[in-house]
Amino acid sequence: MQEIPYKIYLNEDEMPKQWYNVRADMKNKPAPLLNPATMQPMTENELSAVFCKELVKQELDDKTAYFDIPQEILDFYKMYRPSPLVRAYCLEKKLQTPAKIYYKFEGNNTSGSHKLNSAIAQAYYAKMQGLRGVTTETGAGQWGTALSMATAYLGLDCKVYMVKVSYEQKPFRREVMRTYGASVTPSPSTQTEVGRRILQKHPGTSGSLGCAISEAVEYATTHDGYRYVLGSVLNQVLLHQSVIGLESKAALDKYGVKPDIIIGCAGGGSNLGGLISPFMGEKLRGEADYRFIAVEPASCPSFTRGRFAYDFCDTGMVCPLAKMYTLGSSFIPSANHAGGLRYHGMSSILSQLYHDGLMEAVSVEQTSVFEAAEYFARTEGILPAPESSHAIRAALDQAIKCRETGEEKTILFGLTGTGYFDMLAYEKFHDGQMSDYIPTDEDLKHGFDGIPAQPEI
Ligand SMILES: *Cc1c(COP(=O)(O)O)cnc(C)c1O
Repeated sequence: MQEIPYKIYLNEDEMPKQWYNVRADMKNKPAPLLNPATMQPMTENELSAVFCKELVKQELDDKTAYFDIPQEILDFYKMYRPSPLVRAYCLEKKLQTPAKIYYKFEGNNTSGSHKLNSAIAQAYYAKMQGLRGVTTETGAGQWGTALSMATAYLGLDCKVYMVKVSYEQKPFRREVMRTYGASVTPSPSTQTEVGRRILQKHPGTSGSLGCAISEAVEYATTHDGYRYVLGSVLNQVLLHQSVIGLESKAALDKYGVKPDIIIGCAGGGSNLGGLISPFMGEKLRGEADYRFIAVEPASCPSFTRGRFAYDFCDTGMVCPLAKMYTLGSSFIPSANHAGGLRYHGMSSILSQLYHDGLMEAVSVEQTSVFEAAEYFARTEGILPAPESSHAIRAALDQAIKCRETGEEKTILFGLTGTGYFDMLAYEKFHDGQMSDYIPTDEDLKHGFDGIPAQPEI
């Protein structure tokens, strides 16, 4: 058998030229977004007030399997793609596992994560529509950074509402965004109606993603030439992120490798959805079988303890309703949660796949996540993002299981980014200041109580 190199790269001409839309192969399609006022599916027209036209088409299209990637986006991708698919020989050796471990590393661009794959696509369609700029929210800061890189490249204005706690804890992230020309506002702010309302109700709040989304949407819909863009959760984002899975599959196919288990961390679901899409497509079409595992923090357990229901996507309840696994739009993870992935909901596509038993989910506690992160850094050299380290944790657990059973499973996981801007969290971990908070049923009930009455469809 052919020796597999440490890194499998694709040549430029082997890079995907199309994105893959897994919805085309789903028998049970993800439920449509609903207008909260009428409880009817959002129309193309209604969505176009918030999102770019072309992106609305992608959002609503659950039939077209492949979308051509425009040449300008392909050219941008070439600056940092293909991303390496690494055979984790060092990790396998250290773990003394018969498992074969691969990871797809998306952290080798300045934004430090996979988010750039969708940021450039969304910025491109905004530019094509002749818009002046885009607005968005950012939590940990990776999405805002990615978007500001993309808008700088295309010459668009970029307005970022950054969750206040991150704005204060991650000043360097903020400055990277400003270096790329974005304006960054801590959220909740007094710039928007909804921000003022939230501040009045919860003075001193450290903010949340759901709240920053409300602000960004309000700004976009009340200013000419602006649209709102979102870095995760939406169908269009999973579509763009399919480039991760398509590249991984192309690289593995070169060596005839077929993964048994595919693992990814899950915040809003974009990297996981992108990584698994082409493999899930094969499973849905009955061509192959894989185990898919979504990994989420025990402190924000949308899949493992959430409800599958129509819910608001934001705190201010200005966005359409999405059917998804959710903890309720008012859910805010405990303050000692440091490890990212703090969104209350989950991609509708992944929610449906999970609901249909096509994917599994596990939750992990943050100290064990940082243990895995440190172990990985010391073995494979890469300093992983806390978010990515959830996937590392689960991959280690599977590899250790193989050591115990002697099974030679092939494990593929998504290493979504680097953790250079997360050293405060690492510091807490090293100083023994990190704790695990798992919400009680009582805590969760509060969030569930805010889930609206379900439509009768
Ligand atoms: C944003 C982010 C995630 C989580 O988002 P998903 O949409 O669930 O992929 C994971 N890892 C990194 C590094 C991120 O920046």
